[in-house]
Amino acid sequence: MLVDSHCHLAYEDFQADLPGVLSRAEAAGVGRFVIIGTEVASSRRASEMAAADSRLFAAAGIHPNDCEGFVDWGALEALARQPRVVALGETGLDWFRTTASREAQREAFARTMDLAKAAGKPVVIHCREAYDDTLDMMAAARPAAVMHCFAGDEKQAKRALDLGFYISFAGPVTYKKNDALRQIASWVPRDRILVETDAPFLPPEPHRGKKNEPAFARLTAECVAKCAKMPYEEFARQEAENAHRLFGFPLP
Ligand SMILES: [Zn+2]
Repeated sequence: MLVDSHCHLAYEDFQADLPGVLSRAEAAGVGRFVIIGTEVASSRRASEMAAADSRLFAAAGIHPNDCEGFVDWGALEALARQPRVVALGETGLDWFRTTASREAQREAFARTMDLAKAAGKPVVIHCREAYDDTLDMMAAARPAAVMHCFAGDEKQAKRALDLGFYISFAGPVTYKKNDALRQIASWVPRDRILVETDAPFLPPEPHRGKKNEPAFARLTAECVAKCAKMPYEEFARQEAENAHRLFGFPLP
């Protein structure tokens, strides 16, 4: 069984056909799901969904692109205490988009890492064109963490691993031009790898251009397993074990 360590099942996109989405995922061998919040509403919804279904877990956070002017920290603090909320995030730094100032992003990121440490839970990191700055802040704060949809270079991957973080691969690792990322997937220690869809975004090959869903995590996992030279079933077992270790939720 594989864990989809990062999907946005709390988004409107999935509400009409959630049972279908989950049964297609289970048919593909994907059996546990971490639903990631990007503001208070989706974080709350993720937490409620997780409370109602033993296959689902939640992360609560404010996305770096949405953090300008964010003030509702009390709501995130309350969510951080919920037992089915297994992580804080997604949070981090995004120097590619400019919907929130760098100052606002740094402040929200630091505050979220503090919340996570107080709750004894890991953080889910969004990072775009900001790896060095993100890792600098994480090196200072030292949370438990996963680098979601990793897209950095070899040096940044090594630094993240040295700091004890997990590296999560998403659909882009299957894209033809991404040899450098597959190269990284070939040497990341097996006990630090996670796989995710980031659904509804970033579908793996051959579904590019369509809506992504957790069943497709299998395609990304098959690609990473091949890079790691591991039989698929062994890779999936290891990945689920890693998710269990980081997020602290039980496996079936
Ligand atoms: Zn995401």
